[in-house]
Amino acid sequence: LFITLEGPDGSGKSTQIGYLKEYFAEKGMECVFTREPGGTDIGEKLRSIILDKDNNEMSDMTEALLYAASRAQHVSQLIGPALDAGKTVVCDRFVDSSIAYQGYGRRLGDCVRVINGYAVMGCMPDVTFLIEVDPKIGKARIDTQDQDRLESEKMRFHNCVYKGYRKMAENEPDRIIPIDGTASREDMRREIAGHLDRLFAD
Ligand code: C5P
Repeated sequence: LFITLEGPDGSGKSTQIGYLKEYFAEKGMECVFTREPGGTDIGEKLRSIILDKDNNEMSDMTEALLYAASRAQHVSQLIGPALDAGKTVVCDRFVDSSIAYQGYGRRLGDCVRVINGYAVMGCMPDVTFLIEVDPKIGKARIDTQDQDRLESEKMRFHNCVYKGYRKMAENEPDRIIPIDGTASREDMRREIAGHLDRLFAD
């Protein structure tokens, strides 16, 4: 099973990733945890280029292509082989992040889907938990939690990202499960665990 976690900045995604690690450990189930951008040596190098705060020169298309390049490596080196070996993979962000951030946020539109079609070669998540939280709340959380995040981005951008995520969830209800990001961490944990219990029972 290929599971991804998605959400705008400040959605509490990292906390839930930590809970997911506990979930699989408690059940004694082997699970590969990975993240984007990154996940492989090449991917982590690309991550540091993409997220370099001192670099203001990068064009939006370069950014989109670098995310896709990192993802292509991730799928071919780590995610694909793990799934082929019958393992469960949990990935912190995947294609949906690119569609939300570069497609909607940077307004590159549908070409982001096309580029990523080449990057993932049909390797798409079976289930995606989308933590939905209004950008205003997300931003407030980041400001107090971690000043180093990309909070220099404009609110317009974050609103577009959020809108994009919601549209994707509407279009793909069978894959994308929205989680109320305004709920407490514990409630979110329980909701996600409940979905997983049902998935693994099938
Ligand atoms: O989830 P995490 O905090 O590690 O993501 C790192 C940053 O990369 C996020 O702040 C997000 O804004 C950005 N990002 C992006 N486009 C993607 C994936 C992540 O702008 N496709």
